[in-house]
Amino acid sequence: MQATSSWGSLWMPLSLASTAAVLREHDHPVQLIDCQAEVMNTRQLLDAVEAFNSSFVIINTGFPSIIGDMRTAASIKEHFQSIKIVAIGMFPTLLKKKMLEQYQSIDYAIVGEPEWAVNNLVDTIENNMLLSSVQGLVFRDLSDIIENPPQCFDDNSIEDLPFPARDLLDNNAYRHVSDNEKFTHINIARGCPHSCSYCAARYYYGHKFRKRPVGSIIEELNECIVKYGIRKFVFWSESFTLEREFGIHICNKIIEHNLKIVWYTRSRVDNLDLELLRKMKRAGCKGISIGIESPNNDILNACKKHITVEQINNAIRVANQVGVHVTGHFVFGLPGDSYRSALEAIRFARESKLDFAQFYCAVPYPQTNLWKTAIKNDWIESFDYSRYHLADSVMRNEFLSCSEIIELRKRAFSHFYNRPRTLISAVSLAVKNKSVIPHLDFLKWSKV
Ligand code: SF4
Repeated sequence: MQATSSWGSLWMPLSLASTAAVLREHDHPVQLIDCQAEVMNTRQLLDAVEAFNSSFVIINTGFPSIIGDMRTAASIKEHFQSIKIVAIGMFPTLLKKKMLEQYQSIDYAIVGEPEWAVNNLVDTIENNMLLSSVQGLVFRDLSDIIENPPQCFDDNSIEDLPFPARDLLDNNAYRHVSDNEKFTHINIARGCPHSCSYCAARYYYGHKFRKRPVGSIIEELNECIVKYGIRKFVFWSESFTLEREFGIHICNKIIEHNLKIVWYTRSRVDNLDLELLRKMKRAGCKGISIGIESPNNDILNACKKHITVEQINNAIRVANQVGVHVTGHFVFGLPGDSYRSALEAIRFARESKLDFAQFYCAVPYPQTNLWKTAIKNDWIESFDYSRYHLADSVMRNEFLSCSEIIELRKRAFSHFYNRPRTLISAVSLAVKNKSVIPHLDFLKWSKV
């Protein structure tokens, strides 16, 4: 959800790989193309689409990449009018009908997680059935755009999902920022029961925390080790520690199976404690990302984060104590954030024992409560959705203008990454492995 950040590395396309696996399981032949990983231009992509004799092209698209993605979709449509183009991802999930209104080359948009809806769509079209039966689908009907009822996330059983189709990817292309080693994402759970005002996650994966069976996660880890030689992972869910026992169960199984892996994950600060973190470290956890947003209880309360500054400090302290790297994520421009509170957040970050930090501009993603607040207060300064990413500001608040929010974000990067503690971490990463240097985008921020 952002174009520039503290570091940059290519992630495997988890949603597409998982959707490909489901399609294949239902006897739909599929090829999976990651143009960035394969360094493929539009001409080469068109050739690949033609060679495969594709009936559908499924594109995962988000806010920062929407312009390029839609340019690619338009090229495909221009060359192969009969191919149906399906958009999945956050952009169609949040914009629904508006996406089809704005982008003529898109035939179908999927709202929410894609695997079941895409497969139902393909089955429905191939069997000449009515599109009205596909939940979560937005489609064109003559001159109209129809939005079907939403998917019921409870019906989408993630226990039954096949493993993502990594065999269709070049797994060597995905290198971790810490050491340039191969890594991959493992989806361990979906959904979040919390309601932070700015967060759009629940529209994609739902409100309920849906866990994969731990045995299946271990099997997928084993497959990655044995088949692809991958021993470094990002455990992907809204929060690894949302259900403490689930997290502990995963760790116990990794230890029991002696998997010897390294992994990173993210967590809310209210669920982190010394015992859990020690267990995570024993199981190979090297780093956690925590959502701080603002070290100010009034701002945290206003955005319904339901955490406190004391819990933030505690999470950083226990991570330091255990020796797990900790990355803090901050947001500028949330309701109630003023110049003064933003400067206090920068000071907090600089004086904290965080190893790394990411700083964002508050983005009023459509449908979220922050969006509703922003509309009500007339705070939104741009409806150009390609700018709705965390490195840009399209929403002022009661105290800060958009340009001030962007400036504060830059200042935060500069102040944080100019600290001796962070520079030493960066230098030691670079000394260990020179190939990580191009990924360390924060080196340029530290010169701002
Ligand atoms: S920010 Fe995190 S905790 Fe809050 S609703 Fe989103 S996923 Fe849940």
